[in-house]
Amino acid sequence: MDHTKERAAGTCTPRRRRRRRRAHGFIRILQLGIFFAVVCLEVCGAKVHEEPMSALEPAKQPEKQAAEPIQPERSSVSPDDWQVLLVNRWTPIPDGYAFERTTLRNGQSVDSRADPDLQEMMDACRAAGLNPRICSSYRTWEKQRELYTNKIQRLLDEGMPYEDAVGEAGTVVAVPGTSEHQTGLALDIVDTSYQILDEAQEDTDVQRWLAEHSWEYGFVLRYPSGKSEITGIIYEPWHYRYVGRTAAREMTELGLCLEEYVDWLSSR
Ligand SMILES: [Zn+2]
Repeated sequence: MDHTKERAAGTCTPRRRRRRRRAHGFIRILQLGIFFAVVCLEVCGAKVHEEPMSALEPAKQPEKQAAEPIQPERSSVSPDDWQVLLVNRWTPIPDGYAFERTTLRNGQSVDSRADPDLQEMMDACRAAGLNPRICSSYRTWEKQRELYTNKIQRLLDEGMPYEDAVGEAGTVVAVPGTSEHQTGLALDIVDTSYQILDEAQEDTDVQRWLAEHSWEYGFVLRYPSGKSEITGIIYEPWHYRYVGRTAAREMTELGLCLEEYVDWLSSR
């Protein structure tokens, strides 16, 4: 008889079978324990991972709904509103025109009603990494006269006849009483890196940003290129005018300068 086989067969006695079943049961419980532990880790792990992610990532803003197209008959702007006060070489500022002014940090001042939107626009421009500078805003009658007569004098010094100099000066510096700067609603804004008031200003980062966004804050480029015959002023890619957010949006979408817009409002 093969004793090895006998011993091997002897492992299957009832007592050993019970022991083996107990061992199998233990292993089963162990496996189940490990399984639940892994499931728990996965679930908790996902949660632990999720929280910092949501804390780091700003909540997604709901997508802006597309603004409704302009419906001319529904404009809420009246041609008599202060925001669209028209002042140009043919329409002087009304006699006794008065308004409250707010002084800016740089000592300039503006109509207080335009100040909140102006601050918001300047903050947004700076937040975009740019350096805008307001180099001119409200001007007194005397200041406007000084700028105008200085311009005439420079043209005379260049040899221009007096009548031509007066006409030419008026297209660059408004005749006193006809400058928007006297309303406190106009601003000359330049890029700190390029502060010369000429057409190259339009190529600066600040002007590019303003060209795209100023209307969102109620400002428009008042003397755009191609409209000089209507505005009476040369193209000035630095001169912005506050007209309020509704008018700025309508003027931008319709491609109208202020003269055209006021005509349009009046004709409705
Ligand atoms: Zn200006």
